[in-house]
Amino acid sequence: MKDIDIIPSTLKEAVEKISELPGYGEKSAKRFAVNLLDMPRGEAIQIIKTLFDMLEKIHPCSECGLYTEEEICSICSSEERDRSVICVVEETFDAFAIEKTGKFKGVYHVIGGRLSPLEGITAEDLNIEKLVERVDKNGVKEIILATNPTVEGEATASYIHNLLKDRDVIISRIAYGLPFGAVLENADDFTLSKALEHKTII
Ligand SMILES: [Zn+2]
Repeated sequence: MKDIDIIPSTLKEAVEKISELPGYGEKSAKRFAVNLLDMPRGEAIQIIKTLFDMLEKIHPCSECGLYTEEEICSICSSEERDRSVICVVEETFDAFAIEKTGKFKGVYHVIGGRLSPLEGITAEDLNIEKLVERVDKNGVKEIILATNPTVEGEATASYIHNLLKDRDVIISRIAYGLPFGAVLENADDFTLSKALEHKTII
């Protein structure tokens, strides 16, 4: 196609790279690239610098998997948190959403996604083995499964439940207050507080 040739090669490369981001198709990748090019150059460079900085400094907490700038995150290293209660979430921002409610005093475990046969995501792709290790090693008394109330989130919760059900640990699932299909990160504080209060033992 002739008109393809007029696209500068660096722009083409950028679009290709951006479309490697999960959730970005070619169309949104093009918009991303062009939006940056349309901005005042200094501002656009600042955005990229911020992203670069984030990539250099942030990594998963070696204990719970929350994104942090430290080796161990501030929640895992806090004396005030109850290490016998672990709240299992899909992503870091789910934990941040729960933190905002101020209702949870335990620690977290980020599994880094959800089981999704359609996307080819299996248990091995998730940070689940480490969760079992934590339960076995650290005298954990309760696990709260706070994966999203979606089909995949439910499947993930029941997978973890099956893995842990023979151990001496209470396993509960947040449910009440969150509409099925909702995403934790987008839930308001009240709804999320209710969901935690009304968690059910499974
Ligand atoms: Zn941590």
